[in-house]
Parts: sequence; C-alpha cells; structure tokens
Amino acid sequence: MHQEFSEIGHCGGKFSINVKTDEAGNRSVSIGMRISNANPASLIGVAVNSDGEPVRITRLGGWVANSEAEKPEPEPVFIQALLASDRTGMFGHECPNCEKYWRTNSFSAIWHTVCPYCGVRAAPHYFLTQGHRAFLKNLTQRFHEALGYPDDGEHIIDMDEVVSAVQDGKEPPAFYKADESQQTNFKCKKCGTRNDVLGRYGFCSSCGYRNNLDQIEIQLDDLKKRIGTGNINPTEAIKLIVSVLDSGGADYVKLLVRLVPMTESRRKTAERIKFHNLDYFDSELQSCFDIQVKKNISDDDQTLLKRMFLRRHVYEHCGGVVDDEYIKRSGDVDVRNGQEIRENMDTALKFSSLVTKLARNLDDGFHEIIPINHEVIQMLKPRRN
Ligand SMILES: [Zn+2]
Ligand SMILES: [Zn+2]
Repeated sequence: MHQEFSEIGHCGGKFSINVKTDEAGNRSVSIGMRISNANPASLIGVAVNSDGEPVRITRLGGWVANSEAEKPEPEPVFIQALLASDRTGMFGHECPNCEKYWRTNSFSAIWHTVCPYCGVRAAPHYFLTQGHRAFLKNLTQRFHEALGYPDDGEHIIDMDEVVSAVQDGKEPPAFYKADESQQTNFKCKKCGTRNDVLGRYGFCSSCGYRNNLDQIEIQLDDLKKRIGTGNINPTEAIKLIVSVLDSGGADYVKLLVRLVPMTESRRKTAERIKFHNLDYFDSELQSCFDIQVKKNISDDDQTLLKRMFLRRHVYEHCGGVVDDEYIKRSGDVDVRNGQEIRENMDTALKFSSLVTKLARNLDDGFHEIIPINHEVIQMLKPRRN
C-alpha cells in the first residue's frame, strides 16, 4: 500500500575510499560501495570537482546488489563519486527550475531528465537533491583526508550505521537526508520508469510521457466496475466521468498554455477551457492547439457524447429536470420540457468508454506538441514489461 509523505530511508551499505600505492610509488584513490542487506538498492556514479560539487552523472557498469560495485570509468579530471538510492531503489530529485521534489528509479548518465511538474529538461546532475549534494561534499572531504594520510588503506562511511541510528530516533549526521514518498507512484506506460510525484499528474522523468491518460483510464475503469456492480448510481457516474476528464484535461491545457508560445488573447481563451461541453471544448482545442478530440469517433457516438455532456449539466445544475435549452442544444426528442431524466447502466458504461477515446485523442494531440523521447523508450523497452 502506497503511503503518502512517509520518510524513505537510505538503502544502507558501506561506502569505501581505498588508497593504494603501486610499486612505482604512485598513489591512487577509488570510491566503492558494498551493500549487504536485502532491500532494493541501486547506485549511480557522479563526477564531482575537488569541492564535491557534482559535474555530471557517469556511467557505471552493470551492478548487482550484494556485490562490490564495478569499477567506475576513469575520470581524469574529476573525482568519481557514488550515490546510492533509498531503500526502495529510487532516488529523490529536486528541480532547479520549479524547486519541486519527486522520486524516480531512473538516474541515467545517457539522457536528459524531465521535471514531472514544469517539464524542464536538463542533464541529470542538475536534479540532485540538497541531501545528495551534502553527501557528495562529505564524501569528497573524506576522499581528500584519505589521500592526506601517509598510509594506504580503506576508509569507510558506514550508511548501515547511519540508517540504524535514524531508526532508533537519533539525530542523523548533517550529510544525511532521507527521501520522502509522494502522492502518485506510477510506472510510465511508455518506458517503464517508476516515478513518485506530488499530486496526480506528471511527466515521466525519463521519456517525458505525461501520465494523465493513464490516470484518467485508471479512474474510469474503477467507475466502470462500480457501475457494473451497482455500487454507483449511473446518473452520479455520468457526473464523475465528466469530472475525471475535466481534471486530466485541464492539466494538459494548463501545461500547453505554459509551454507553448501563444498570443495573449489565445492564451486567455485557452485558460478558460473546461471539459463540460463537447462542442465548446472541441472547437477551442482546435483553434488554440490544433488538437482534434473527436478524431476517429463515429457520428452516432459523437451525438451520444454531446448529449451526455449536456445531460451532465442538467444533473449538476437543474436537479435532473430538462428545460428548453437542453432540448434545443441536444436535439434529444425522447424527452419533454420539465421531465426528470435518469441514466441506465449501459449508457453510463458506453459514455465512459467514449470519454476514454476523447482522452486518448487529447493525449495524442498533447504529445504532438510536447514531444516524447522515443530513444529512451527504445533503450528502456525491456523494463516496460
Ligand atoms: Zn520543475
Ligand atoms: Zn517514460
């Protein structure tokens, strides 16, 4: 069960700083890590300058828990440091642009990271947290100290000790900061990366695919189950189906307004888009963003969709009693002015499926404008399944 805002401790393990002198008298220092406990853990390489400031994320070889990390690539100028994940195998991230926090299990040296909230894309080391940065400074300081000792040897930073001290309620050292679970922990449908974000919606921080459609489908599937089992009145379900689309849809629009350069008047029009009236939001999305929400939906289904959105207005604002306005706009000849209407299960289920189609078209149109990184999806394909 996913718990919001709970502290997620470090994965533990022992960082080692090894100083060696070869026969020719050359001294070398390397940083490694051993993990002996059973929880998930992963490791990334970070090149730091002599002050411990991160310069870039570096590629490590394949890494298996419970064994010594593979020797990192040589970094001629910078110190090759390491960072380990939290005890769920994820890393906290902080966006330098919007300053928001999230966690992900992907911290690649190869592709740029995407902020799930503001969508900014940059080299991954820009997203290291204050906790990571404090740890890297400490590690670098210990590195210099180890090099300053006259004798060779291994110097340990024991994270197992730190983790157990924190569990015992003791004050952790200044370089330690635990991660924190957020509200929506989702696996990206395109690349398989796991992301844990504040709120419900976010970009996948690896490939940049937005999770709105996935979240809309999860909620509509749940509603369909409730409709099917009689757990919810079909009329109530119609209202909720519209509000699911409105919440996910408004988030897409909010991002487009922020990320797409547009004229002031178009921006104002776009900011007013609500997903309550099909003809209205269809025409506004076309004029502002060239998004075709009714694409590949038959005329009959479009008629039903239009009618159900208008009926939602009747349920929400007229106590379910139809008026002339409804009859005129919907062309519904089966009801008369003043009649109280109700929905049946089949219509509610059909409406839910058609709203999913609208959401898919919205998702397509959104990502035609805000591109996904398809190379990342190819690279992470095995993880998706
Ligand atoms: Zn951001
Ligand atoms: Zn992804």
